[in-house]
Amino acid sequence: MIRIAIANQKGGVGKTTTAINMATAMAASGWKCLLIDLDPQGNASTGLGVKQADRVHSSYDLLFGEAGIEESAIATIIPELDIIPATVDLSGAEVELVEFEDRTHRLKTAFDDAADKWDIVLIDCPPSLGLLTINALVAVDSIIVPLQCEFFALEGLSQLLQTVERIQKRFNPDLSIRGVVLTMYDRRNRLTDQVEEDVRSCLSGLVFDTVIPRNVRLSEAPSHGLPALVYDHRCSGSEAYMALARELIGRLPAKEELAA
Ligand code: ADP
Ligand code: MG
Repeated sequence: MIRIAIANQKGGVGKTTTAINMATAMAASGWKCLLIDLDPQGNASTGLGVKQADRVHSSYDLLFGEAGIEESAIATIIPELDIIPATVDLSGAEVELVEFEDRTHRLKTAFDDAADKWDIVLIDCPPSLGLLTINALVAVDSIIVPLQCEFFALEGLSQLLQTVERIQKRFNPDLSIRGVVLTMYDRRNRLTDQVEEDVRSCLSGLVFDTVIPRNVRLSEAPSHGLPALVYDHRCSGSEAYMALARELIGRLPAKEELAA
């Protein structure tokens, strides 16, 4: 079971959009996928059409040992894609976690008891480097970093990379960066070119070849409770996320080789 966190402490860079559409694209490619919504705002849950009433168990329960992974996961409208939704009580979790000695390892512990029901688990992280994101970074084997093509794109990245390094040293030596994905890419904008050039020269091999264009269909889809890939599978955003999934699959071991 491959576990990947979608992380960047900046808000509005495309984490949730990437989480929803990558999860859908991976499922469409035949990978049994679980998406964990670890953001108290619950945008990934809403964007996949999960109603409040159906959020019987949540990522909060997982962190506080009130339910296991399999118990908490519910089916989505996408075959092969399950989700563990977020509920509002998650907004208090950072403070509540501080009381626990194993506060950084709660999510990892939840995984230790989980059967190998999925090929891949994606975690949508909140926009901070607090205990929720740290729990994700301790529990996964790698991260994908969405980076918005804007002037300050690289600024926050060094802080994230430092956090990753610290987690590697202290808790999770196997943690790696699976890739950086440029989002909200606008070919007509010269600044976009400049940002891309800077990011690629700074991070070279880490940056996915696929870029995600700025596409209004991607931002409309969540209000219909649908991934863009279902809302409009032919829009440029959907095509880009399918291409990104193919590129990711190329960087992963074959699905058949995944051991427990
Ligand atoms: P984050 O989870 O990092 O806060 P989101 O995925 O929620 O970021 O994206 C922030 C906003 O930008 C949302 O309104 C989303 O619909 C929109 N958005 C994200 N990616 C794109 C894109 N490629 N093109 C157009 N709008 C986008
Ligand atoms: Mg988000």
